[in-house]
Amino acid sequence: MTDIEFKTDMEFAYATPRELAPGVVRFVANNPSVFTFKGTNTYIVGTDDLAIIDPGPTDDAHLEAILKHIGGRTVSHIVVTHTHRDHVDGLDKMATATKAKVCGYGRNEGNQGALVNPFGTEYIDDNFNPDMVLHDGDKVSGSNWTLEALFTPGHAPDHLCFAFPEQKVMFSGDHVMGWNTTVVAPPEGSMSAYMASLEKLIGRSDTVFFPGHGGQIPDPQRMVRGYMVHRNWREQAILGAVRDGHTTITDVVAKVYKGLDERLINAASLSVQAHVDYLIEKSLITCDGPTDFTCELTAV
Ligand SMILES: [Zn+2]
Repeated sequence: MTDIEFKTDMEFAYATPRELAPGVVRFVANNPSVFTFKGTNTYIVGTDDLAIIDPGPTDDAHLEAILKHIGGRTVSHIVVTHTHRDHVDGLDKMATATKAKVCGYGRNEGNQGALVNPFGTEYIDDNFNPDMVLHDGDKVSGSNWTLEALFTPGHAPDHLCFAFPEQKVMFSGDHVMGWNTTVVAPPEGSMSAYMASLEKLIGRSDTVFFPGHGGQIPDPQRMVRGYMVHRNWREQAILGAVRDGHTTITDVVAKVYKGLDERLINAASLSVQAHVDYLIEKSLITCDGPTDFTCELTAV
C-alpha cells in the first residue's frame, strides 16, 4: 500500500526551539520510539503571552529548555491533545512552573484502567483533571492567538485537535501525522470514530498541520484524503479476506499483512480488530462473540 507519501525527514535538535510559523515554536522531547518517532512535539503558541500545546513526557532537559525560551513571559494555558503518557507525563511539572491553566477534554467517561499498548507499556494517564474542560468548538485565546478545539476521537476517546486561525494552521496531535499512520487500537481506539474525525477535517482551509510527532504537513487536505483512502482500502482487503474464508483476525492478519515483522503482529492484529468492529457496526460482518483475535467471523 503506497498511496500515502510519508514524510520522515525532520530537522530538529532536542531541547532546542524551532520557529515553524509566526507565533509557533516547536520543541521535540527526547523520547524516540516506534510509536513516537523522534519524540513528542511540544508547541509554544503566541509571542507575548503564550499557550503550550502538549507538555510531552517526563524530560527535564525538555522542560528546562522550554522554560528558558519562555523567559519572563506569561503562559496562560497548557492545552492537551489527549492523555497518552508521552503527551502528558510532563504536565504536572510544567503546570507548576508556569502556573498556567490546564485545558483538555478529560477522560470523563469510559476510563478503562491500566491499558497497555501493543508493546506492553501502560500508556494512558487516567488521573488527568483539567482546570478547564474543552469540548468541540471551545476556544482559548491570548493577545494575538486563538486556539479552537476540534473534538477528534479515534486514536484516543478524548482527542482534540487545535486550530490556530490567525495563522491558518492546525495542531493535529496524534490524529493526523505525516511520518506514519495513526494507531487505532481497541479498546482505546475506535475506527468508526477515527474515520468520522478524518471526515470532519475535509474542506478546512488550514494551510499546514503541526502533528504530535514528526514534521509539519504542508498539504494537509491531501494527507487526510490519503489516510481515508488507505483505511478504506484496508477495510476492503479485510472484508475480502473474510469472504475468502479467513475467518479469524489472526488468519486475516496473515493474509492482509504478508511477511510482516513478528514484532508488529500484535499491533497489526489490534488494527484489524478495530476494522472488524467497524465492519460489525456497519452490518457487513458478524462475529460469534465479543471480538478478539480468534473469534469466528462471517461476512454478511
Ligand atoms: Zn497518542
